[in-house]
Amino acid sequence: MSSDIETVKLYVNGEFAEAKAARFGPVYNPSTGEQIAQCPFCDADETDAVVRIAHDAFPAWRDKPIVERARVMFRLVGLMEKNADAIARTISREHGKTHAESVGSVRRGIEMVEFACGLPTLSMGDTVHNLAQDVDCETYRYPLGVCVGITPFNFPFMVPLWMVPIALAAGNTFILKPSEKVPLSAMHLADLLHEAGLPPGVFNVVHGDKQCVDALLVHPLVRAVSFVGSTPIAKSIYETATAHGKRCQANGGAKNHIIIMPDADLDQAVAALQTSAFGCSGQRCMAGPLAVAVGGAGDALVDALVASADKMKVGPTDRDWGANMGPVITRQHLDGLLANIDKGVHEGARLARDGRGLKIAETPNGFYLGPTIFDDTSPDNHVSKTELFGPVLSVTRVGNLDEALTLTNESEYGNGTAIYTRSGRAAREFKHRAGAGMIGINVGVPAPMAMFPFTGHKASFFGDIHIQGKDGIRFYTQQKMIMTRWHDTGEAGEFVTTRA
Ligand code: NAD
Repeated sequence: MSSDIETVKLYVNGEFAEAKAARFGPVYNPSTGEQIAQCPFCDADETDAVVRIAHDAFPAWRDKPIVERARVMFRLVGLMEKNADAIARTISREHGKTHAESVGSVRRGIEMVEFACGLPTLSMGDTVHNLAQDVDCETYRYPLGVCVGITPFNFPFMVPLWMVPIALAAGNTFILKPSEKVPLSAMHLADLLHEAGLPPGVFNVVHGDKQCVDALLVHPLVRAVSFVGSTPIAKSIYETATAHGKRCQANGGAKNHIIIMPDADLDQAVAALQTSAFGCSGQRCMAGPLAVAVGGAGDALVDALVASADKMKVGPTDRDWGANMGPVITRQHLDGLLANIDKGVHEGARLARDGRGLKIAETPNGFYLGPTIFDDTSPDNHVSKTELFGPVLSVTRVGNLDEALTLTNESEYGNGTAIYTRSGRAAREFKHRAGAGMIGINVGVPAPMAMFPFTGHKASFFGDIHIQGKDGIRFYTQQKMIMTRWHDTGEAGEFVTTRA
């Protein structure tokens, strides 16, 4: 390992510290294929020490007036606005998103913090006066304690912000375990929370792999676990965390279907499909990697998709190069995508556009795959069913909306789905019958904004209470119900008149 490669620090108890870890993982710049940092993998002992620090910081943070906690969030918004460009550059460098995509993801993160600024109002309880004779009843929301977030590579800055602002504003302390593939962006969050005046120990960042995560999942002082990542890991995180008595919300993978009706505005549908299939190089849980063309929509759709994909400029995103699509995350992921494309072809799918073999002269070792389009894939084909998580779009053809809905609803995943149509009747049928948690009507990526929950279904979510919005507040708080009766003892005498 070259000594000029940065080793990512931990953020613990208000300080950026070297990890004691003995194991490390490489962090790449996917645009060039170069290693830019190494990420320490904390073991169970090092992880335990961080949990104890977060636990010790909890009582003072819990007891701070909620408006003061919210003020830290207000300051964080200002700092994020000021540093948005620098954060976006880190995201593009370690992840490969275009600058515009990275800026967009920072903006979504800012919206989460803006939402958390409203917690003094949003976390109010309920009250009923005179529920029984002389009895009043009320509920309060209290923080839980130490909460943990385990996040994926594909939105290195935004996904932690689905969790951290609400959890902190509600009075919890937090430990973030970012993806070891993209640990640098999350360090900006630690920096900015530090500058915003968050007390030591309230927010902490540890790094690692399964060992570190397992130590968090079974730790007796951890109260709640939020996870975002692939389905097999989401399922096992949910099972382990809940078996150890923790609250858990675990978002998993996806294979979102986009239905194109024959009456759809073709230009609008093609533009949306291009963004949802190839935006962020297809590495989005709300991507649209499967277009379902209904009736006669298929031929014109595929021709237009290929023509617009041909115009895309794929290349490095770590410099001002004008790319509108970047690389995928690692060489290993690229190899997996190439193998999946081969398998799809072997199983009979026709490649309408082949993005393999793309070489960028300026950055020949980057992890690039051009936009790839399969036409007329059978529902049984591997590429129609599996989450590939890359710039690969499959087009399947069906006769009518019923068949499109059957196909959508047979998917093991249920994150999102969308329809493109001019028919209110078709849209209404689709909205009520589609078996996914987030529905788009003439919207290609129906990812909710901060004030709404991220409502994946089936293998896309394990848990009861979703991430974001009011669900986020429910998840990071526990309620107390208080019933009060004061008997008239006559002590207050003439100063109290109970009934006029
Ligand atoms: P991943 O499941 O490989 O990793 C996610 C996190 O889990 C990382 O922090 C990683 O270090 C940790 N992890 C990995 N293996 C582990 C193990 N065996 N035990 C404990 N922890 C482990 O996911 P990824 O490749 O980083 O992200 C892509 C996946 O995330 C895709 O499937 C995508 O659909 C999904 N995703 C889902 C949503 C959603 O809201 N549903 C959002 C973003 C991404």
